[in-house]
Amino acid sequence: MTTVAERQENHQLIREGVRDLCAKFPTSYWTELDEKHEYPEEFVAALTENGWLSVLIPEEYGGGGLGVWDAGVILEEIGRSGGAAATCHAQMYTMGTVLRHGSDEQKQRFLPEIAAGCLRLQAFGVTEPDAGSDTTNISTFAERDGDNYIVRGRKIFISRVQHSDFMLLLARTTPRAEVTRKTDGLSVFLVDLREAGEHIKLNRIKTMVNQVTNEVAFDDLVVPAANRIGEEGSGFRYILSGMNAERVLVASELIGSGFFCIDRAVAYANERIVFGRQIGQNQGVQFPIAKAHVDLEAARLMRDKAAIDYDQGATKGAEANMAKYLASEAAWQAANVAMNTHGGYGFASEYGIERVFREVRLALIGPVSNNLVLANIAEHTLGLPRSY
Ligand SMILES: Cc1cc2nc3c(=O)[nH]c(=O)nc-3n(C[C@H](O)[C@H](O)[C@H](O)COP(=O)(O)OP(=O)(O)OC[C@H]3O[C@@H](n4cnc5c(N)ncnc54)[C@H](O)[C@@H]3O)c2cc1C
Repeated sequence: MTTVAERQENHQLIREGVRDLCAKFPTSYWTELDEKHEYPEEFVAALTENGWLSVLIPEEYGGGGLGVWDAGVILEEIGRSGGAAATCHAQMYTMGTVLRHGSDEQKQRFLPEIAAGCLRLQAFGVTEPDAGSDTTNISTFAERDGDNYIVRGRKIFISRVQHSDFMLLLARTTPRAEVTRKTDGLSVFLVDLREAGEHIKLNRIKTMVNQVTNEVAFDDLVVPAANRIGEEGSGFRYILSGMNAERVLVASELIGSGFFCIDRAVAYANERIVFGRQIGQNQGVQFPIAKAHVDLEAARLMRDKAAIDYDQGATKGAEANMAKYLASEAAWQAANVAMNTHGGYGFASEYGIERVFREVRLALIGPVSNNLVLANIAEHTLGLPRSY
């Protein structure tokens, strides 16, 4: 078993490798894509070729066989370079549901191709217009029909569908009114988007971030029962176990983006002269940068704790939630401070600050809103009455 110290040593190599790759994709690359609302094809291809997106897949299926902590370090470095890790992070971890809960046949069928980069599984269909954060209230229904299921319903804000071959879909297989616990009766499917034709309709939603996200309508979509992951009715549990990994990884990329903002703010505060001195000489400028730095370091410690536990099989939802909460608040603060430090120049897109400011803002709301994180911790960690 690899020790924490050995893993940290390996992280240095990971950081250097990812930094070298990211150096080929400067701020101007991301700014241009953001302006055109285009997908970072070249960047994702480079990450894939170098094996960075398949690190969480075990070696026996052709992946890197690393853990969530290591994957987090990769995403952190992408964020720190000013890159938008959120555009491709899902290719790293969506397959985790197959890995943890899929059959041997499904693992053999999907994981080697995902590891090789020839199969993209980075669309994750959970959120619905009438359910929002209340996931067990979703109504997209998969009705059993012989060897198939027929799916009908609507999802919203489903990202990267246009850049995926498969979507991991959460649907009801038993109506909520007919189950004892509302978390029962939900199932997870792998939907082949290449064969869906007219049975899946997409309506792209323009947002303030460069993430291809969509309203998705399922109209009598046929999904083979062989594409259901695990047992029928247990899907909520499978999705939850993946969400803990997702929260640690999202926290990691936010920490990276936050430090990018700090790096830029420090450089600018040292070089910009106003009233005959560096603006960074003013406590009103330097203290907010220092505070944001401190908060990011604290978030990183919680990320490390949550990631190490996750990799040791001792997943604690509270820690993953706390890591996501602290990282999103700290990254948002760092981006805001970088905007203030840059004055009017922060608004100029070529500096990359306003883009990251928009990107990190999303994390206060998704993949889970910070209110829901606090509600969960209040109930499950502190023993307060359930509020939702
Ligand atoms: C760009 C983008 C990409 C996304 N990509 C995906 C994706 O790929 N797949 C996917 O499934 N989803 C995706 N989402 C959806 C995202 O996960 C949700 O937007 C998020 O979970 C919040 O759900 P909602 O928007 O319905 O907000 P709601 O649930 O309607 O909440 C609205 C507000 O009310 C607050 N609130 C609600 N209930 C409570 C309560 N009980 N206590 C306190 N506060 C409460 C929330 O915190 C929030 O601030 C994406 C969203 C965006 C914007």
